[in-house]
Parts: sequence; structure tokens; C-alpha cells
Amino acid sequence: MTTTFQLTPTRQQFASDNYAGTCPEAMHWFMEANASGHEPAYGDDRWTQRSTDMLRTLFDIECDVYFVFNGTAANSLALASLCQSYHSVICSPVAHIETDECGGPEFFSNGSKLMVAEGQSESARLGKLTPDAVSALVTKRSDIHYPRPKVVSITQATEMGTVYTVEEVRAIANAAKKHQLKVHMDGARFANAVAHLGCAPADITWRAGVDVLCFGGTKNGLPVGEAVVFFDKAMSEDFAYRVKQAGQLASKMRFISAPWVGLLENNVWLRNATHANAMAQRLYHGLQKLPGVSVAHTPEANGVFAHLPEAAVHALHAKGWKFYQFIAGGGCRFMCAWDTTEASVDALLADLQAQLKG
Ligand SMILES: *Cc1c(COP(=O)(O)O)cnc(C)c1O
Repeated sequence: MTTTFQLTPTRQQFASDNYAGTCPEAMHWFMEANASGHEPAYGDDRWTQRSTDMLRTLFDIECDVYFVFNGTAANSLALASLCQSYHSVICSPVAHIETDECGGPEFFSNGSKLMVAEGQSESARLGKLTPDAVSALVTKRSDIHYPRPKVVSITQATEMGTVYTVEEVRAIANAAKKHQLKVHMDGARFANAVAHLGCAPADITWRAGVDVLCFGGTKNGLPVGEAVVFFDKAMSEDFAYRVKQAGQLASKMRFISAPWVGLLENNVWLRNATHANAMAQRLYHGLQKLPGVSVAHTPEANGVFAHLPEAAVHALHAKGWKFYQFIAGGGCRFMCAWDTTEASVDALLADLQAQLKG
């Protein structure tokens, strides 16, 4: 007896860029990896070698690369490798490591404390850390009772859909280095930041003072998988053991790494991100024309934050639209993905406009 299981495609949503599926190029190499027969397990395969080499070329440096399943693990394990348990990590109050990782960084580092840089500045409103905020936390205390600052973590693009400029990253890294702190970059949306800036990936990472980058693949079009990129090999010592102990070492590693080949070849990662950013701009311009809607700030990556009348929020939900409201202190967040179509953006805008007029 055979059973059939068929699903009709559902509409595109704006809740998160991880609602989207796998891009064709990543899927192509996933299938190639599957067709290539037996391969050594745990990362000793050709695909892992190839994608690692491609990342080294992309970043123009002999970096150490590790593939893990998700961003929480990438961030948590990267931070754990930079910290002793009595250290602390400085981050923004809206940082994913602070608000959305269920204590993973603290858990995997055996207790390193996250210290949020509270502030009312324009930068803080845009989800960014500043050199001053970093210095203030580092110099606040120096006694034995204070969890010793060891790492500064910044998110690029930020949780608020903004992007640190090269100069901003460099200034934060300089402040960090002045106090012997390491710099971690949560790059769940690194591709969207590079697409916005138009710079070389090296320019906002190691050349600007970043020590470790968690390079997001999932939200950029992979089925699953993030790359932890160490620009200073001294810091990745024993990292492979952390990955294994955390249950993040894929035995069939090639099914994470081969799709990375699809993203990296012909700069598909950048094309995917450029498209997602453009859809966010389209949505932003559409929202700005609607009465009663106030967009929080100009989007620089692939997300738009806006305040909508409560009735409009209910109406959109009633029409089946999904979007988050709990991210970064209120308002509605609309995320665009590598495959978001103009028609989907326009359909959302049309439903919103109809409600506001009615
Ligand atoms: C999505 C995201 C992550 C990774 O989240 P996982 O669900 O653990 O893969 C990390 N940082 C930021 C800023 C994110 O948006």
C-alpha cells in the first residue's frame, strides 16, 4: 500500500526570514552531495573542505571554520570559547544572545555573565552598542566582585534591522582592544549587512577588529546551518570538542556544508541578501504612505519595524498574516527573506490599506 502526502503551497509570511525554504543553489549542492556516494563523516568530507576553502577566499584570510546547526549554538559556543566562567560579555539589551537564546551563552560558558549596555542614545534606539557604552561598563568597576568583562558582542545586521558602518565596528573594536576584550559578531544576518554596506566581508570583520564571526546561513537560504569563523586561530583551540560535546557535530556534515557551496558560489549569499533588503525597502516605502502607520526607522537590512493601530494588527492577523510583536520592545516586525516576492509585499500592504480605510 502506498500513501500520498501532498501539501499545497502556503502564502509567504513576514514573521521571520527563517520561514522561507531553501534556495535552489543550496538545494542543488545538497542533492549533489547526496548523489556523490559514501563520504567520510563528521566533516572529513570533500564538501566541508570545499566550503571552508571558499570561506577563506571570501574573507581573504586563513580562518578556522566550524559548521553547527543553529545560531544559538554558534553564538553560545563561540562566546564560551572566549570566556572563563568568571568573565562577562558586553552586549546590547536587544541582543539575541540576551533575549532569545534561553541562557545558552551562560550555560555553555559555565556562567559567564551577559552585561547589557543600557542607554537612551539614538544608537541604542537603533539596536547598536557604542564605544562609550562599552568603555563605561568596563571601567565601572575593577574589583574582584565584578564579573570581569572579556568580550564585546555586536549583532550585524542588528536585531532592529540596522547596520553598523565599518567605522562603527572599528570604533567598538578599538574600545574593546584598549581594555583587552575580544570581539564577537552575531552575523545571523551578516549577508544583509554586507549587501547594505557594499564592502568586502573582511572590512567589517577581522580588518575592523572582529575576532569571531557567527555567519548565518539559515536565514540566507540554507535548509540549516551556521558557520563559526575564527579569524584568530589561537582562539579556536579545542573548539571542535565544544561543538561535539554540545551535540552540534553533524555526522553527515556534508549536508550542512555542501549547501554552503551553493551560497558561496557566484555570490548567491549576497544576491539573496540584496533581494531581501530590497523587499524590505519596498515594504518600508509602502508603509510610509499609509495613514496611522509610523515606521520606527529607515530599514538598512531585511526587516521593517512599524507601529500600527491595534485594530489594524488584529485585522492583519485575522487575514492570516503572521508577524512578530515581541521583538525589541513593541511595534510590529516584518522580515523579508531571500524569496519574498513583490506580490507578497504588495498583498500585505493592500490588506493593511483596506483596513485603515475601512
Ligand atoms: C535568528 C537569529 C539567531 C539564530 O537563532 P537560531 O534560532 O538559534 O538559529 C542569532 N542571532 C540573531 C540576531 C538572529 O536573528
